Amino acid sequence: MANHTQIAVIGGGLVGKATAVAAANAGFSTLHVAPEAPVDRRTSALMGPSVDYMIEAGLIGDPETLGVPLTNIQIIDATNRLLRAPETMFSASEFGHRAFGWNFANARLGESFSKAAAGSERLDLRAATLESARRGEGVWHLELSDGGTLTADLLVGADGKGSSVRKAAGIAVRERKFEQAALVCDLVLGRGLDGESVEFHYPNGPFTLVPAGGNRANLVWIDRLETLEDARREPEHLVTLLNQKTNHLFGSISVASPSFVFPLSLLSVDVAGRDAAVLVGESAHAFPPIGAQGLNLGLRDVASLHACLKVANPRSYGWAEAVARGYGTARRGDLTRTGAFVGGLFTSLLSPHLPAQALRSVGLWALKTSPLLRKHAISFGMGQ
Ligand SMILES: Cc1cc2nc3c(=O)[nH]c(=O)nc-3n(C[C@H](O)[C@H](O)[C@H](O)COP(=O)(O)OP(=O)(O)OC[C@H]3O[C@@H](n4cnc5c(N)ncnc54)[C@H](O)[C@@H]3O)c2cc1C
Repeated sequence: MANHTQIAVIGGGLVGKATAVAAANAGFSTLHVAPEAPVDRRTSALMGPSVDYMIEAGLIGDPETLGVPLTNIQIIDATNRLLRAPETMFSASEFGHRAFGWNFANARLGESFSKAAAGSERLDLRAATLESARRGEGVWHLELSDGGTLTADLLVGADGKGSSVRKAAGIAVRERKFEQAALVCDLVLGRGLDGESVEFHYPNGPFTLVPAGGNRANLVWIDRLETLEDARREPEHLVTLLNQKTNHLFGSISVASPSFVFPLSLLSVDVAGRDAAVLVGESAHAFPPIGAQGLNLGLRDVASLHACLKVANPRSYGWAEAVARGYGTARRGDLTRTGAFVGGLFTSLLSPHLPAQALRSVGLWALKTSPLLRKHAISFGMGQ
């Protein structure tokens, strides 16, 4: 059939790129519909299992050459609340790991994923957006912004929070938008972090420094949107605030990149796959960036879809419906658990109510003192 592909992947973020490579490597003719996009200036802390998947799938080579190992995580309650949580430290060595994971620049990961895509024979790239998708006669009929039309057996939405694929597949979504946003930029510190990620908890959200190699650090500062916009109005003003927020713990601080602000929301779907359509990454789930869960969960989506595709038989009638159904069922537990964990943690961090603050303090005391709880918490955080 002319202009037919077995799988169409929509969206050129990191999850879309990884999915297109996985689909082609599983043996399916794949079209990746990905418009030109501005460089993604974020960084991602990716845990051991995500890194293992990227290596196995040929998306990256040695993580040491691309990222910086994360060996310790420190949590500091910097609020003036009546009930403050204890300072808590986790070391990868305590759990038998060399590192919890690696911190990568998204732009470098994207380049590495694109290189893997370029080497894949069954994968074609189209620099266009999806304009419409309709299902009929057992296939998806797609219209693209460059005027092209095609049909696909399986449609994959990797097209972010406002997903067109999700709408076309009629999958219900719940989204809660927060008044908080996240400011990111690169910093140079007087004293380097030496593999340690330091998270200060403030009443309007965490302020996190992630090691980026040598004396460099990536900042993820969650606060009210107007506070962040005010903070970045002048470079000197931003540096003064950064010194206050870090309690001058790292000596001098300078800002080494432009800053960017991202709106935050909590988004979940009823099901991540049905009617020969599947959702991966932020088209299926989004959270505030705490506990480094978003892209880790997105890569678990990709690994799960990859596993479903490897056992699918494209010669059998209805294979794409079966893959979507199987994937939707396989992802249900992880999406529900991770969404509830991050949503609950974020709400408890911001809560002005004493019972929620007490619960969080007790939780952190328990994590500080109970080896078994620490082990469970770390396994969960690493997506194991
Ligand atoms: C400040 C911040 C820090 C973060 N830090 C971490 C971290 O440390 N660890 C972690 O695991 N996660 C982290 N995350 C989350 C992580 O960045 C996201 O989960 C991940 O980047 C989502 O990737 P995605 O490909 O699903 O979506 P996106 O990157 O949003 O990509 C969606 C793509 O779809 C395209 N698109 C949209 N509509 C169409 C259409 N109609 N046709 C074709 N294409 C379309 C868009 O152009 C875009 O390129 C962080 C997030 C933020 C905001």
